Amino acid sequence: MGARRARDWRPITLATALIATFVILLGIGMRKPEEARPAPVATATPQDWMRKLAPGERPPQFVLFSFDGAGSHDQWQRLLDLAGRSNARFTAFLSGVYLLADDQRKQYTAPGRAAGQSSISFGGSPDEVRTRIADLNTAVQRGIEIGTHYNGHYCSPRWTTQQWQSELRQFFQFVDQAGVQGLKIDSTAVKGGRLPCLEGKFDAVFDAMKSRGLTYDSSQVSDGVLWPAKEKDIWEFALPMVRMPAVNNKKVTMVDYQIWEALNRSKDDKSKRDEFARATLELYRAAYDATLRGNRAPLLIGNHFLDWAGGGFGVAAEQFMGEVCGKPETVCTTFSDVIRWLELQDPAVLEQLRSLPAAQT
Ligand SMILES: [Zn+2]
Repeated sequence: MGARRARDWRPITLATALIATFVILLGIGMRKPEEARPAPVATATPQDWMRKLAPGERPPQFVLFSFDGAGSHDQWQRLLDLAGRSNARFTAFLSGVYLLADDQRKQYTAPGRAAGQSSISFGGSPDEVRTRIADLNTAVQRGIEIGTHYNGHYCSPRWTTQQWQSELRQFFQFVDQAGVQGLKIDSTAVKGGRLPCLEGKFDAVFDAMKSRGLTYDSSQVSDGVLWPAKEKDIWEFALPMVRMPAVNNKKVTMVDYQIWEALNRSKDDKSKRDEFARATLELYRAAYDATLRGNRAPLLIGNHFLDWAGGGFGVAAEQFMGEVCGKPETVCTTFSDVIRWLELQDPAVLEQLRSLPAAQT
């Protein structure tokens, strides 16, 4: 049985234009699962940066790579290899329905929908779910953080706190249930999430998150790169909007599908792969330089486990991970670790960092 590429969200407005693409992507996805390769040995990183800053000391330059969906076996293999080689850690925001085989779809009921519906595909065959569980276990063993991308990837949900609670309860139920099949994610270690399409009523979302003991969100957008701040007791790691040279310096949110929209209105043109990878890499490098020289706020790179536009955005994120994570004073790590670091700091120091102008490109 071939491994179907786990699909994720694409802009609804372009759905019709992209039907053909879906068919092509499915075709491409029907390849045999690769043999599990031996894991590269990651050098243990002494976390000497996990401490309170000395007076006047500059913070490390944190880079937070995050990947939404987290269903594709190919992409897990590439990223785990790369992170091992680059001594990088990152966060994967998992879509809970990827833990349900297609014939278990009725176990999920999105708020306001019938059981078994989702705006993305379910987990595929039982074999595909088993492969995904193995990938997730390897990731967790290597210090990769798993967060939630919720379940059915509904954009613009006008859900209430109770409805978000239902969505989260089901996410954790799928994680716990997959434990029977060998998934080794401790659900109490899942501490944060990213909303599908970055959309939802934050008041309701945050109340639901708090009631589940979650501590961070990364779904809001900030003008430039800013230090995280707490909102309703939830740390908000906003995705930065910065000027992108390849689109006449228009401001673009640093997530793959927004960059794609800015570059060619999300047309899935595979011939653009290298051009888009270059433009995205240029954006990442400029944002990193501005932040390193500027306010030193954690830099967020938001991507999906998808091969949009021939995979150009994945190429850029992977190349950037390879080049940036070994740089001096630079730490590629997880949201939870940055929260631990933030909580070690003197509140006055954090206040001062937050008062610095946002890093801009
Ligand atoms: Zn998504």
